[in-house]
Amino acid sequence: RLSRRLDKIASLVPHGSRLADIGSDHALLPSYLAERGRISSAVAGEVNPGPYQAAAKQVRDALLHSRIDVRLGDGLAVIEPGEVDVITIAGMGGALIASILEAGRDKLAGVRTLILQPNVGESFVRLWLAEHRWVLTAEHILEEDGKIYEILTAEPESSARTTNEQVYRDRALGCGITVSRELLLKLGPYLIRQAERVWFDKWKLELQKLERIRSQLELSGLPESLRKKRELETEINEIKEVLACLQ
Ligand code: SAM
Repeated sequence: RLSRRLDKIASLVPHGSRLADIGSDHALLPSYLAERGRISSAVAGEVNPGPYQAAAKQVRDALLHSRIDVRLGDGLAVIEPGEVDVITIAGMGGALIASILEAGRDKLAGVRTLILQPNVGESFVRLWLAEHRWVLTAEHILEEDGKIYEILTAEPESSARTTNEQVYRDRALGCGITVSRELLLKLGPYLIRQAERVWFDKWKLELQKLERIRSQLELSGLPESLRKKRELETEINEIKEVLACLQ
């Protein structure tokens, strides 16, 4: 059995895919999908020897070695261009996911779906996608063991039914405020529309963190800190306005 988070990611992998799961750790996701005949093949990539060994053992023990190839290497270096059509990268920071995509740009030709689950820093991932002709096509959010996770799905601009221009267009909400592209990159252009309870919970927690940082900046009293504090205040107020509007 998979965790709720991995189960949701698994459900988003199109049937019959050739999958690369980067940062696969114990190769749980590709194993689950291969055991159920939901993918035709998989590469499980790992940069660290410990998790790589764990993945190799899991695949061997489950007799899945003919369908899952476990490879040691950094990010997308473990795949060849055109080898896979779906890539999952889950359970790491958004900045790291964006840097893995950036470093492996030449490996993305022929990939039809990216399924990305940053633990933090989702806006780095949205920004990288938007700047590299990948269109965000869906967003999911869920809670597991007291943590809240977002899962972002993207397709190449050439095959997506929508465009980044449409996804991140300034959006007027019912109560008269307009949400900018910059705020949509943070809050999630689909998540804001779905406005699920767990999304509100996440942003209430994030606001508490931002307010703590604001107090620290205020205490420091340095001119640079005060400038940052004012920027943060604007951000906090914008987020509060959106939450109040949608609640
Ligand atoms: N993807 C699994 C999940 O979501 O449950 C495992 C997540 S685990 C917290 C993150 C894994 O990513 C670790 O096993 C780590 O070794 C691996 N990792 C970190 N940076 C990586 C990179 N640049 N390339 C490949 N794997 C990486």
